[in-house]
Amino acid sequence: MTDRLFEKDPYIREFGAEVRACEEKNGKYLILLDRTAFFPEGGGQPGDRGRIGDAVILDTHEKGDEVWHYADRPLTVGNQVQCELDWEFRFSNMQNHAGEHIVSGLIHRQYGYDNVGFHMGSEAVTLDINGELTVEQVKAIEVEANRAIEENIPIRITIPEKSVLAAMEYRSKKELEGDVRIVEVPGYDRCACCGTHPLRTGEIRMIKILAVQNYKGGVRISMLAGNRAMEDYRNKHESVVEISHLLSAKTGEVTEAVERLLKEIGDLKFTMVQMKRDMMAMKASNQQICGEALCVLENDFKGNDLREYANLLSERVPRILALSDGGGEQLRYVLIDQKGQARALGQEMQKLFASRGGGNDQMIQGTLKGEWEAIKGWFESHE
Ligand SMILES: [Zn+2]
Repeated sequence: MTDRLFEKDPYIREFGAEVRACEEKNGKYLILLDRTAFFPEGGGQPGDRGRIGDAVILDTHEKGDEVWHYADRPLTVGNQVQCELDWEFRFSNMQNHAGEHIVSGLIHRQYGYDNVGFHMGSEAVTLDINGELTVEQVKAIEVEANRAIEENIPIRITIPEKSVLAAMEYRSKKELEGDVRIVEVPGYDRCACCGTHPLRTGEIRMIKILAVQNYKGGVRISMLAGNRAMEDYRNKHESVVEISHLLSAKTGEVTEAVERLLKEIGDLKFTMVQMKRDMMAMKASNQQICGEALCVLENDFKGNDLREYANLLSERVPRILALSDGGGEQLRYVLIDQKGQARALGQEMQKLFASRGGGNDQMIQGTLKGEWEAIKGWFESHE
């Protein structure tokens, strides 16, 4: 059984211990000590990282009442080792864990909903709440949660007697056996929890809700606390400042500036479509036509433009084959025949120019291969 130093004092960053076991598993080394301040993953809080002797610890897990450290190299059993936690990582987890308690506790007290899923991810901490909440309601929770920080209340850890526990109201994800560790933020939350928390709410520094989404009949709340919330604020602030420079707008007015920009782009697109249409109509009316069939090559017309152009020309000539560069050796084509022979012409094109595609007797489109002059010669002399 490992002596869990983090349960008595969550602020221990360095300690000495004896290596009790070292096992290799999938290229990693699992280290067991007689005592540890490394918190093993549990209750939504990730396992601790740091160093044990020369070894780098990447993760910590528990098996029964033993705490196992995942190391990058083996350690000699029986040796005394100096150990050090990645304190920045751990303290951030303590801030975020305690922040989550306050938010979940407030939601439970005000709406009666439970936190049914808690995850501390690399982007944010997420809380799955089994009831619907609006963005405004969660905003109000954020304000109250930060009041708890301002009040700098002591966070109390107790292991109550069975009879006291039986009469106590507290949040819990499951039925618990044996000793139950109660974490209390007086006035805000009381919860069964094995995790590590700071001694006072002031150490959480701040709580920021990032998002509220509908999730499995309730909501998923993304939040950050402490140093991570500050870092998130710094990054977002830098982005807004950069955007404001790019748009020559004040930082508080970037939304309006982006909206204006999007409207301008929309107007320009609309004007461009109109101009392109006019240009196409002009080009079509200037097209020299002699005879009943016309074949044109228009590499500027991509996508639907080729078909639109063919439609315009078909108002002036009964049979039209419009081509444009289709990449590689291929040409894109649109063939319109008011005499209703489009598919029959398509069959010939398939033999002569390996065409692909389809349509009806009035219009076919697709791709083909061949010399432009040869295609034009064949099409315009066709009966
Ligand atoms: Zn906790």
